[in-house]
Amino acid sequence: MSYPKLLSPLTVSGVTLRNRVLMGSMHLGLEEARGGFSELAGFYAARARGGVGLIVTGGIAPNWSGQVKPFAATLSRKSQVSRHREVTDAVHAEGGHICMQILHAGRYAYSPIAVAPSRIRSPISPFSPWALSESAVRATVDDFVRCAGLAQTAGYDGVEVMGSEGYLINQFLAAHTNKRTDSWGGTWEKRKRFAVEIVRGIRKEVGERFILVYRLSMLDLVPDGSTWEEVLDLAQEIQGAGASILNTGIGWHEARIPTIATVVPRAAFTWVTARLRASGVVNIPLCTSNRINTPEVGEAVLARGDADLVSLARPLLADPDFVRKAAEGRATEINTCIACNQACLDLVFQNQHASCLVNPEAGRETKLLRVKAVSPRRIAVVGAGPAGLSAACWAAERGHRVTLFEASDRIGGQFNLAKRIPGKGEFAETLRYFENRLHAAGVVLRLETRATPELLVGQFDAVVLATGVSPRMPRIPGITHPKVLSYVDVLARPVELGERVVLIGAGGIAYDVAELLTEPHGAAPPGMPAPEVALEDFFSEWGVDHAGWGKGSTTRGGLATATAPKPARKLWMLQRSSARNSQRLGKTTGWIHRAALRHRDVELVSDVVYEKIDDEGLHTRVKGVQQLFPVDHIVICAGQDSRTELVGGLGAFGDQLFRIGGAERAAELDARRAIAQGAELGARL
Ligand code: FAD
Ligand code: NAP
Ligand code: SF4
Repeated sequence: MSYPKLLSPLTVSGVTLRNRVLMGSMHLGLEEARGGFSELAGFYAARARGGVGLIVTGGIAPNWSGQVKPFAATLSRKSQVSRHREVTDAVHAEGGHICMQILHAGRYAYSPIAVAPSRIRSPISPFSPWALSESAVRATVDDFVRCAGLAQTAGYDGVEVMGSEGYLINQFLAAHTNKRTDSWGGTWEKRKRFAVEIVRGIRKEVGERFILVYRLSMLDLVPDGSTWEEVLDLAQEIQGAGASILNTGIGWHEARIPTIATVVPRAAFTWVTARLRASGVVNIPLCTSNRINTPEVGEAVLARGDADLVSLARPLLADPDFVRKAAEGRATEINTCIACNQACLDLVFQNQHASCLVNPEAGRETKLLRVKAVSPRRIAVVGAGPAGLSAACWAAERGHRVTLFEASDRIGGQFNLAKRIPGKGEFAETLRYFENRLHAAGVVLRLETRATPELLVGQFDAVVLATGVSPRMPRIPGITHPKVLSYVDVLARPVELGERVVLIGAGGIAYDVAELLTEPHGAAPPGMPAPEVALEDFFSEWGVDHAGWGKGSTTRGGLATATAPKPARKLWMLQRSSARNSQRLGKTTGWIHRAALRHRDVELVSDVVYEKIDDEGLHTRVKGVQQLFPVDHIVICAGQDSRTELVGGLGAFGDQLFRIGGAERAAELDARRAIAQGAELGARL
């Protein structure tokens, strides 16, 4: 397939972009690290080499109080320009273009010096912001302008003004957060003034041949957010003030509607940009965003006229060569972002550097290197789950002769179970990617071959054990009762479950199994990836005004009444500990899983002692009180143990026997660790 729209050039503010792919802004954590700008230069250069049309950096604060957290990257003085030069030079050397995003966090700053239009604390921050004085507002506008001028001096091709996601500019726009009574608040005319003056001031400062992207919140998804009329008016004003591109912002960070997680259907929000475009109030290029993760989706969005550019952020963490592969007819080789947030946003929120679950090289471009092996060796990798796949590819790409043994009839290990979970259908893309990569690297794949010491000893110079894990069966009287199934039984085989089911365990897998078993729209059959939820069902469940927004609705923020779908069955999820349920879920996605199960009336029960299982069901004590769960089935999701049965017979390999992924350690195993360990071992074998 070719992508004529996606790959066509576009000239804005005198700069010709190679194509319509804009790399959306992502804070990587490298911005604040010692030597981080050299790392950033490597990171962005790789994306420029991969053909991206326009890169937008992570947010840089225009002043001290605008930092997202203390000591976050800021550009407010000439002395800070030179380190940015390293980045812009590296990108230009690869023929790319790059804009610097200017982000003032306002009340989202994780700091006691946070400022905002009014002293109203955000629900996602412990700090109450200080209300800016009138002169401080003026000074903040000037800081944005100075920051843009310094960015120009640093060699950037433009700037993006972050006017969405609930940051400072948004806080001025929305009545929700702006209760001022001076010339910066009150009426809409006054609330929008801050945004418009920033853009006008920047254009005056930088001249005409400099890209000025404005990220406009087109759908706030918070109560008392902007109306559609305000969105239209602001778009016009921002264009008039000198913006070259309007980029789309969807949802404030405090919104309780998922906007980028894996549960969100692909390109679920491009209709918002399309409605702005159809209104005809602006004629500068519009960029749309959120969950556009394949060239097919990007092309379709542009072909139906939703926008002039598409913004991809995480998909370019997952694969820096996304555009080049699409242009060369190699789209099936793209490493697709599965929208898990596990190695990008989750890590940044924990003050670590961003990387990518499916691409451990991301953010480590200058460290994790594919150096040719000095002396190629015969290497056996046992197990074609995520860990084994990653190790086999890396080792073979470095020149080793690699044989990959897999006991089952397909590659993927537990990803074959995970891909059936609603919202995790994307996991199938990772398997498609690895299948192509194995082939390209020349790995000899032996499916339906359970490796044994006899097959390995004497035949190979080194063995990598990536045999994964097996489900743990707790010792409960009656555990062999026909009512009892393991999560593998439920996910891998076509079993018929009753109307009432209890899960033993409340970890990540239990949450997933609960979503599958209560799925109101029908689950995928075993072996098949979960289908994407229909857009209307998604918006109805989460309360988005899809029908009316941009079509005459006068609601604020684009919210609608959420309608919980009828769950497929009654389900309880139990755990022994009294710790807050779901602590094991992702930092940025846990709330979505908790909300989804709430919508389906799943009951979470802590402090449980399992007594026995019989024909009546599961007998327990909950907080010391006897309780019977009179269920049809009991599904065990009680963690896993490493599969290490081969180790004993492989002593002959000495220090050339390696263990990775679940085979190394079952506790706290996830695919991020499995794939990263595979890559790190494959890079040094
Ligand atoms: P496995 O995936 O277990 O693979 C091991 C492979 O080795 C298997 O294919 C097995 O057949 C093979 N094997 C074993 N013994 C032999 C032998 N002797 N010879 C040949 N082959 C052998 N993780 C996340 O990070 N995010 C998620 O959202 C997520 N969701 C999940 C949802 C579900 C429902 C499940 C079940 C898991 C999920 N996981 C998730 C966990 C993730 O899938 C695992 O962490 C990961 O698969 C572990 O990789 P691994 O390669 O170590 O082991
Ligand atoms: P887990 O998260 O460790 O949870 C295991 C659950 O079983 C816990 O609720 C635990 O709670 C219970 N349990 C443990 N031992 C038990 C026993 N002997 N008897 C009864 N209950 C027991 O493991 P998991 O759910 O199997 O997930 C495996 C890994 O996959 C996780 O580490 C996770 O990172 C990954 N994963 C991630 C996601 C994601 O969305 N990020 C999704 C799925 C899986 P109590 O001990 O309190 O009873
Ligand atoms: Fe995408 Fe997950 Fe990688 Fe983040 S960690 S870029 S969400 S695949």
